[in-house]
Amino acid sequence: MKIGGLQRVSLIDYPGLISAVVFLQGCNFKCSYCHNPELVDPRLFQPCLRENDIFDFLDTRKGKLDAVSITGGEPTLQDKLPAFIKHIRKMGFAVKMDTNGSQPKVIRNLLAEKLLDFIAMDIKAPLEKYKDIVKATVNPDSIKESINLILKAKIPYEFRTTIVESQLGENDILQIGKLIAGADHYVLQNFVSTKTLDKKFLKEKPFSDEKLQKIKSHLEKQITSVTIR
Ligand code: SF4
Repeated sequence: MKIGGLQRVSLIDYPGLISAVVFLQGCNFKCSYCHNPELVDPRLFQPCLRENDIFDFLDTRKGKLDAVSITGGEPTLQDKLPAFIKHIRKMGFAVKMDTNGSQPKVIRNLLAEKLLDFIAMDIKAPLEKYKDIVKATVNPDSIKESINLILKAKIPYEFRTTIVESQLGENDILQIGKLIAGADHYVLQNFVSTKTLDKKFLKEKPFSDEKLQKIKSHLEKQITSVTIR
């Protein structure tokens, strides 16, 4: 496992639970606004933590933490992910995974083996705009397949989109809404420029609150709960 970092406690990453956050190194997308460049750009990679370091830490947090959130980078690219999750669950922690949805086979297997308690998938753009936003080759069918797997999964989930004004228009977000019509929960994450993979994006602007509220009302016609974060 390529483990790029550990956040010892988070009150916000896993909805309703106190979790540690494990950051996995490496991603097949190169979203310009990515706020974890050190997990995406190999030139910025730091030496990895060992799996046993994570397990030893978790051992000291039994009864204090409820869960582990696994994020990236893109977790589904790591071969040893299922074994890693199994070990964490055996220790008594719930597991949430964040994904970009590019590897539906991995998602299918994790769900079939009941290894996840919560899954969060980023929807980057309407399918036809995907490759422009993620700056990488992407199979739109894989994204659609992952969405469908999650919609049918019998675990809590959320879909979410980072909103950067130069990347997505109002209509794009409504198109995404159609892709996930019937979903329980969708999060509109307004862009915050702290650090970005492409430094030019530090100057990017988020949507106004007014605009987001208008989009939210439209989306609520087909999605049970829409949150602005
Ligand atoms: S935002 Fe997510 S999918 Fe995009 S490059 Fe960063 S880690 Fe990868």
